[in-house]
Amino acid sequence: MLLSLLFPRLSRPLWSRVRDLSCSRWGWKRAGCPHRGLQTAWATCSSDVNPVFTRALAFGDKIAIIDQNREHTYRDLLGQSLHLSREICRVLECSSRDLKEERISFLCPNDASYVVAQWASWMSGGIAVPLYRKHPVPELEYVIQDSQSALVIAAEEYVGKIAPIAEKLGIPMLPLPKSRSDGSTGHTAVEEGPLTACSSWKDRGAMIIYTSGTTGRPKGVLSTHENVQAVTTGLVEKWEWKKEDVILHVLPLHHVHGVINKLLCPLWVGATCIMFPEFSAQMVWKRLLSSEAPRISVFMAVPTIYAKLMEYYDKHFSQPQVQDFVRAFCQENIRLMVSGSAALPVPVLEKWKSITGHTLLERYGMTEIGMALSNPLHGVRVPGSVGTPLPGVEVRIATETLKNGARSYTVHAQGDENSTQVTPGLEGQEGELLVKGPTVFREYWNRPKETADAFTPDGWFRTGDTAVYKDGVYWIRGRTSVDIIKNGGFKISALEVERHLLAHPHITDVAVIGPPDMVWGQRVSAVVQLRKGEMLSVKDLKDWARETMAPYTIPTELIVVEEIPRNQMGKVNKKELLQRFYSA
Ligand code: AMP
Repeated sequence: MLLSLLFPRLSRPLWSRVRDLSCSRWGWKRAGCPHRGLQTAWATCSSDVNPVFTRALAFGDKIAIIDQNREHTYRDLLGQSLHLSREICRVLECSSRDLKEERISFLCPNDASYVVAQWASWMSGGIAVPLYRKHPVPELEYVIQDSQSALVIAAEEYVGKIAPIAEKLGIPMLPLPKSRSDGSTGHTAVEEGPLTACSSWKDRGAMIIYTSGTTGRPKGVLSTHENVQAVTTGLVEKWEWKKEDVILHVLPLHHVHGVINKLLCPLWVGATCIMFPEFSAQMVWKRLLSSEAPRISVFMAVPTIYAKLMEYYDKHFSQPQVQDFVRAFCQENIRLMVSGSAALPVPVLEKWKSITGHTLLERYGMTEIGMALSNPLHGVRVPGSVGTPLPGVEVRIATETLKNGARSYTVHAQGDENSTQVTPGLEGQEGELLVKGPTVFREYWNRPKETADAFTPDGWFRTGDTAVYKDGVYWIRGRTSVDIIKNGGFKISALEVERHLLAHPHITDVAVIGPPDMVWGQRVSAVVQLRKGEMLSVKDLKDWARETMAPYTIPTELIVVEEIPRNQMGKVNKKELLQRFYSA
């Protein structure tokens, strides 16, 4: 009742129950029921690495996905994926019925069709290359071309956007029929058994994700099935995913956060994923606070989303009894709320805790390494820190020195899931975070030099992030390149300055950059977004900051903007900001 009070204008959810898709409905002929076929082809596979779809049969009629169209069982997803994988092989004329790592780009909305396209690509032996619907045509074309895709799959609503690109590049396009709300798919009968032997999953390429573009030209990060499985199972273990879990998915699906953490983890354990077409603060609050089954038990997002949810809360949930309800409901029903993909400002963490009772679990990851560090599910989550290594992940904090053209590394700290050893005398020293282990990607697609440069000679991936190990946990100080500002010899973390400035009552968003300076090396400059109707001068800021910030960290320049430009993952492209305000 309280919910209808909170969201009076919203109608009931659109999805509806549908009947089960039985084998006979799919019209399996020669090979009989595909599910039996799948069982013999995949479930008996002795390999340690098996894609997520090989587990789906065991979850049968359990609801895997609820999207804006309907509910989809694990059986539905499996049947539709198998059907599509045959279509893929028909179009690509793969007589061996094994695509040997052909890239398959696909553009789907955030719904079950995405899962079907991904699973079908894998069933066919191909590499999944997810495209993003909000990317402009040249960006899509770049990804399809750079990945040398052999085929593009497009959901019905994107055929118009993709067809001209496919034609221009001379690549076949496979349109996906629209998923219907009555549960029918329009598929015709499929006549043969499953594809692809199981012996070679481990080193086989699984997906190519293009890096977010905050550094140079986007590169395709190729992760193998082993990498994907290592990230998935690490999170499943650490965050105790179980089949009773229900996650609300609101993130883009061309990024590890959306693909692995929010989709493959629930599908791995037989849980349910409720997929929204996109983020809307109103819809998220409505679903989080709904007692309608299935109730949400897990939520994950980037910090910007938490900030937007809090903005909505401030505007619409001002009555004390509503606030009490929100807090009590979240505490009672939700077991885990995670933040990642960008630094979580401590004021956001604190405010979120005050309104929901949840201390956000902050974790650290990257396209190339999946997830590496995480605060604990149980135990103390240290605000501002990213916890300790996830299962199987080894990390190092090191500084590189160049002597006569040869690189060498001084290791300050090295750790894994169980412990971290610190080099005596180097406690608490910042350095670059290096990562090793089965989660680390295989290569940048078609870029052997960039791939080689990304690793140390002894095989550690260089994240380009500055980190420190202190008080038993790891802390990310920012990107080595842009977020560390050298001012008068002092090393300043731009993220640290931002954290402070976000506590200023007039500032709603901030990006701290370090324009070059002849005398100081770099200055500290703050690009800020102010609360409506407020003003702020450098003098005001200095007066306010004096109590809490070291003098050399207080910005000496203030640029007020209407909105800080952030990409889909909530990140600021600081190189662009520097270019915009300090191009001279
Ligand atoms: P992406 O490959 O797009 O996921 O970006 C990875 C980068 O995001 C990392 O190298 C970090 O710079 C940043 N990042 C991810 N998680 C965090 C975090 N919890 N705190 C600070 N930075 C983060």
